[in-house]
Amino acid sequence: MNLLCRIQCGRKEKRMRKKSGGRIFRILSFVLIFVLMAGVCAGCGTEKGKGSQTTGSSEKNKNDSGKRGKVTKAVSNEAAEASAPAQETEDTAQNPTPEPTPTPEPTPAPPQPQPEGQYVAYLTFDDGTSEQTDHVLDILAQYGIKATFFVTQQQGEENAARYRRIVAEGHSIGLHSVTHSYKQVYASLDTFIADVEGIRQFVLNTTGVDTHLYRFPGGSSNTVSNVPITDCIRYLNQNGYRYFDWNVDTSDAVNHNSQTVDQLLNNVFNGGAGKYHSLVVLMHDSKYQTTTVAALPQLIEGLMARGYQILPITEYTPTVQHKKAETVQ
Ligand SMILES: [Zn+2]
Repeated sequence: MNLLCRIQCGRKEKRMRKKSGGRIFRILSFVLIFVLMAGVCAGCGTEKGKGSQTTGSSEKNKNDSGKRGKVTKAVSNEAAEASAPAQETEDTAQNPTPEPTPTPEPTPAPPQPQPEGQYVAYLTFDDGTSEQTDHVLDILAQYGIKATFFVTQQQGEENAARYRRIVAEGHSIGLHSVTHSYKQVYASLDTFIADVEGIRQFVLNTTGVDTHLYRFPGGSSNTVSNVPITDCIRYLNQNGYRYFDWNVDTSDAVNHNSQTVDQLLNNVFNGGAGKYHSLVVLMHDSKYQTTTVAALPQLIEGLMARGYQILPITEYTPTVQHKKAETVQ
């Protein structure tokens, strides 16, 4: 019974295995077909996509390769140009030596305010231009120094060239007078104003510079004016002028050049030099002042030796005034 059962059961199992095997085979077949079909379709899609992608990417590649070509070309050019330094770099890498310290870029120095206590001298020449102007300018150029010329109205092309040379060589030009005749200049406030505006217009016409630097004929402390000097100062204050007197007088105008070189130098170095931090030195520029020209190199050297920086007067220069402008309202 058992044996029969086993035989029957065995046959059943075989049939079952056959059946299930068949099923599995069919399922596998379907799966395989499906996979194959899907693979083909996917392949088609992929190929299509790939085709378009390939086209795109090939164009892209073309572009890229074009770009690369260019880059390569550029690199190769650079490499060709820089081949020697590259070799040096490799050698340097094999045998490292300290990198040379790069030279720092020079940074422009900010404008420095004039340090307190610094000695400054302003050389001023009144009454020009004249035949001495050329000599004075030559000496100033030789020392690389800028000065200030308070000029009068002198006619002629030679003088016109001198006014222009003063400006062209970087000196300051200031106003002094048209006539330098005390009687005429200070006869009245009107004549004073006419004189100031006359010399201003003359300098402007001759040099193109509209200067408002001014020096009174005889200084703001003069005793020859018929007009109260305060009236003159008021006019200057109200019209943007800045006037300068002096605190060191070379006395080179005394009796039309009666002083020797030593006397002129003595007047400066035993006068204001060393006494003031800011010197405004009065000199003259007329046909008489040959001694001034002769003393100028020693004057410059002496000031430098005493630590003075020699500068031209500008609208920013602190004023030296015998009669202070701010005392006049
Ligand atoms: Zn003068």
